[in-house]
This record gives sequence, C-alpha cells and structure tokens, in this order.
Amino acid sequence: MRVLVVEDERDTAEALSWGLTAEGYVVDVADNGVDGLWKATENAYDIIVLDVMLPGLDGYQVARRLREAGRWTPVLMLTAMDDDLDHAEGLDSGADDYLPKPFSYPVLLAHLRSLTRRTLGARPALLAAAGLALDPAGRTATRDGAPLDLTSREVAVLEYLLRHKGHVVSKTELLEHCWDVNFDGEPAVVEVLMHRLRRKIERPGRPAAIQTVRGEGYKASCVLTPPRSSSPRSAARSPRSSGRCPPRSSTRPPRHRC
Ligand code: CA
Repeated sequence: MRVLVVEDERDTAEALSWGLTAEGYVVDVADNGVDGLWKATENAYDIIVLDVMLPGLDGYQVARRLREAGRWTPVLMLTAMDDDLDHAEGLDSGADDYLPKPFSYPVLLAHLRSLTRRTLGARPALLAAAGLALDPAGRTATRDGAPLDLTSREVAVLEYLLRHKGHVVSKTELLEHCWDVNFDGEPAVVEVLMHRLRRKIERPGRPAAIQTVRGEGYKASCVLTPPRSSSPRSAARSPRSSGRCPPRSSTRPPRHRC
C-alpha cells in the first residue's frame, strides 16, 4: 500500500515515514500543501495522511482541490486543533477520517487499515486465497497454517494482490502501489519478486494462490481451499467462504502514471 504523508513538521514526518515503512507501507512525504497536492494528483496512492496546518495550502484546501479534481484517494486528516467545528470542516472539505494530535501510533495504523478496507467492495480484516492467509495488522502470513517468512515488500505485494483478488493486477500497477516514487528501475523487478514470493507461498499439489495471466499480470485466486492445518484465528475469522470474488470497486482511485 502506497501512502502520501503531507506534514511540515519534520520530526513528525520522519517518524511517520519510518514507522509506516516498518509496517510495510511505501511512503512518500511532502512538506507543504502545494507539493502535497501535486504529488496526490500526479501519483497513484492508496491513502493520504494530511496535516491541516501546512505552508502553501492548508489541509482543508488540499482535500477540497483533490475532490474538485475528481481524485478520490482516501484522506486521513491530522490536526492539533481538536474541536467539533475543525472536525466537521475536515470532513466537509473531503477528508474521509480525522485524527487529532497527539495520536497513538497503533490507533493511527488502525485508522489506515480501516480506510483501506472502506475503499474496496470487500472488507475482510484477514485476507485469504487458496490455503494462503495474510493478517495485514500483524504483517503475518501462513500457508496451510504454517507461518511464512516474508519481507515487508513481499507482504506489500501480497496484500495488494489479495485485496484485489479475482482481478488481474499489472506489473505497472504493482510498481505504482508497492514501490515508492523514487524507484526508477525496470518492471522486471516485479517478476523477480513474484518468482521469489511464489517459491515461498505455493505448495506442490495444492491450488495456486497467485496465478500469472500471460501478458497482463497477476491474479490472486478466489478459491478458498480449507487449509490442511489452518490456524484457529484464520479459520474462525476468514470472512469469505463463498469463493466468489467481489466486483472491482468503482471508488478505487483512478490509475495515473507519474
Ligand atoms: Ca503542521
């Protein structure tokens, strides 16, 4: 998941960038409203964390202009001002959620996960395909109940594919959402990562969790195969048992290549 942090307080911006990166997010930072609006307009983000008090344009103006431009990326607004009118103005300007400073880091992460779920048709807290299960909150994954040792980038790619399961995701789309804006390498890096990821998650004789669609990209399977020894949590909380994929959300932000 790719996040834009628009925050002019350097310490807060660095702490957010470091913390979110450690959680597996791909993070870009803008330190003023003008740059934030430009980045949010030019790049494909999954979430924007937007401070209110900013030089250039304030957070309300940034949110308003984004919506006027038809950009529907979910916005979590941060502010030190905590009264009802500020809260209302934030939401009315186009923000989807609002968090007063100082905030607890676990609460911030929970707000981001909640916003991510809201933008998609299906809203599972745990993601699954075939015998594969991923807990985005804990950044842990299992295959047939056995823990997987995944890097943060592998978790990010897997989460993106599982959140769009049943739909083909192109290499370009994975690069846009799972690598930061400074990455200028070749799309072949996606192929290398997918090869490595597959060796970790697929099992001989078991249904493939991730399929290659030749010439188009990758697709997470809609089949929910009961794990041979699934964890109690996965079995109890797996939200999708019908095996049907949801339609791709119409509220998903438009794809735009920088
Ligand atoms: Ca500020």
